[in-house]
Amino acid sequence: MTTRGARLVILGKQGAGKGTQGERLCKHFHTQHLSTGQLFRDSAAVGVPAGLKAKEYMDRGELVPDDIVVDVVKERFSNPAEVQYGFVLDGFPRTANQAEALDQILGSQYPLGLVLDLDVPTDLVIERLLGRGREDDTRQSIRRRLELYDQETKPLIDLYRDRGLLVQIDGVGEEEKVFQRILDAIHALDQLS
Ligand code: AMP
Repeated sequence: MTTRGARLVILGKQGAGKGTQGERLCKHFHTQHLSTGQLFRDSAAVGVPAGLKAKEYMDRGELVPDDIVVDVVKERFSNPAEVQYGFVLDGFPRTANQAEALDQILGSQYPLGLVLDLDVPTDLVIERLLGRGREDDTRQSIRRRLELYDQETKPLIDLYRDRGLLVQIDGVGEEEKVFQRILDAIHALDQLS
């Protein structure tokens, strides 16, 4: 495998399939999957203060403040082995500040290799989110999260496109087909590099 694909970010609206495709990619490339949302849910479940604080924002569909999220990622990546052998970041970065922090955390030795944008229309993600029934998936919080996606996260698409790291993937269709599209895109890039 490919150095380009080894350190990877998945962007996309909530419900676009970042978690599912992220896990598949990690199995395929033997890298670790890091979902900030999952980390918060796990730490809230066992009563860790930062997790409980994060949950207050999550339940309302708000973004967890940048400093809390960045600390969690920084701590996880403080061990160079975590970065060196690759990762799939799912749900981080979600703001320009977080994107900048990520660059600093990774440094010049292990820069990001690829950013995938999983593109799924809003109507379809709403349908998917209502169907999965997670605690924070109320109509109100879903609406708010999509609004925040447009304001805060969507601009990252241009940022990474300008850096030549972005690949857009059509996220509509069967899980297996979407995964194949991702692999095809990664392989096509490897041919170029
Ligand atoms: P997810 O599991 O990615 O759907 O995230 C669930 C929730 O966790 C989001 O709605 C946010 O409230 C919070 N969250 C996860 N990652 C981030 C992040 N990078 N920045 C801010 N909030 C986040």
